[in-house]
Amino acid sequence: MTAAQPKASHHINGQYREDASGRSFESIYPATGEVNARLHSATPAVIEQAVAAAKAAQPAWARLKGVERGRILLRTAQILRERNEEISRIETLDTGKAIQETLVADAASAADALEYFGGLAGAITGEHVDLGGDFVYTRREPLGICAGIGAWNYPVQIAAWKSAPALACGNAFIFKPSEVTPLTALMLAEAFKDAGLPDGLFNVVQGFGDVGAVLASHPDIAKVSLTGSVPTGAKVLAAAAQTIKAVTMELGGKSPILVFDDADIESAIGGAMLGNFYSTGQICSNGTRVFVQRGVHDRFLERLKTRTEAIRLGDPLDPDTHLGPMVSKAQRDKVLGYIETGKSEGARLVTGGGVPEMQGFEKGAWIQPTVFAGVTDEMTIAREEIFGPVMSVLSFDDEDEVIGRANDTQFGLAAGVFTADLTRAHRVIAKLDAGTTWINTYNLTPVEAPFGGVKQSGIGRENSRAAIEHYTRLKSVYVATGPVDSPY
Ligand code: NAD
Repeated sequence: MTAAQPKASHHINGQYREDASGRSFESIYPATGEVNARLHSATPAVIEQAVAAAKAAQPAWARLKGVERGRILLRTAQILRERNEEISRIETLDTGKAIQETLVADAASAADALEYFGGLAGAITGEHVDLGGDFVYTRREPLGICAGIGAWNYPVQIAAWKSAPALACGNAFIFKPSEVTPLTALMLAEAFKDAGLPDGLFNVVQGFGDVGAVLASHPDIAKVSLTGSVPTGAKVLAAAAQTIKAVTMELGGKSPILVFDDADIESAIGGAMLGNFYSTGQICSNGTRVFVQRGVHDRFLERLKTRTEAIRLGDPLDPDTHLGPMVSKAQRDKVLGYIETGKSEGARLVTGGGVPEMQGFEKGAWIQPTVFAGVTDEMTIAREEIFGPVMSVLSFDDEDEVIGRANDTQFGLAAGVFTADLTRAHRVIAKLDAGTTWINTYNLTPVEAPFGGVKQSGIGRENSRAAIEHYTRLKSVYVATGPVDSPY
């Protein structure tokens, strides 16, 4: 077996666990189709072990002072940074993303979240409300056991974005990675263990949707946070409804980027490329509908084509490679299907659109970065989330028109505006139905900023102080300072 094979599939109560009776599955290196590792999906017995371990460990963790919990998260962050190269390599093998990206955007972002929430842990407080004698105070209490279910595009980042605030608030956590990318959540579990996190507080159970569904409906689990597609979100919400669980939903998008005539064109092109091609287009907040104002449209397209054709596809482990393959052949074929639909519905292919010839990587899930122009609002490629490196360029004439068109979607995850006009930038952003927005940049998601969607793109927020609200419950305590005034 390869160097990527973990010691066992699951990590429960501080130990690797295996149960070979669970359905077996493989982690595949999508650049070559080679097998990285073989694992087993969690059986009901494994899931129950994780829940029991979390239940046993959580009360003592919740009784610690915030700074004591935070100290362990900070140590975990340091360990992730020390192991960044090793984790990035495994992340590249699991996802196919170029090492140039995984070195800066995956374990590093996970460490940011652990540092942010580690620092915040001692500052999680309630409030005092004076009632002119009597008073009320509020306590921010942990929820208990929280579960996280991950997508395959940012495996270790998603695990940390969910577990860091959960643990900072005094909860225990059970994470189910995507079955497509099971490996680095186990490395996060090792880092927590080595940092001194008490056993049972961070558990990893592997598996398919059925394992996620058990977590989402489990009576002992108080909250579920999903990163995934809208249809999966609807299923997880329905499962969570059985026990009235708290939920955070980070779902899909079809986000707009608006480029006005006065924008810095090279920056707008750079933003649009980052917002469509980074991680081979597999980012939920991608700005896949690029609306370009008529006056700069042709120049924008010409430079976009030149710059897109200069993107270097290649060996994902080569630090000079910009773009790796997609996560799987199934996902690649789905995207190729959308490209065919785009062509047949009349969009004009500007560049890309096919499978590149990659010597030594013939069995990989490769696809060219693709740009369509002449896209109209009704086309399938302008309406559905493709989740691949396919940019649709649409043209527009005026501000009100483009705002209406940008908002004409069931999604509402993200949006971006490129303009040199300060007043227009803020006016337009205020009118866009999106949870996460940018002015004159795109897709930057620092842990300090709330991240999440509106409409069908999600419920709740990750990152920032806002995440604390989603991993705590509020208790109000009324305190009387005199005798009870009763008519009886
Ligand atoms: P997916 O919805 O297929 O799967 C997500 C996770 O849900 C996986 O772990 C899967 O095993 C699990 N799952 C599937 N069915 C389930 C069920 N019935 N009950 C419980 N869990 C179940 O998504 P994906 O293909 O892994 O990821 C791509 C999608 O995720 C895209 O739509 C993308 O936009 C979205 N995404 C959103 C964000 C965000 O933060 N908003 C980030 C990354 C990806």
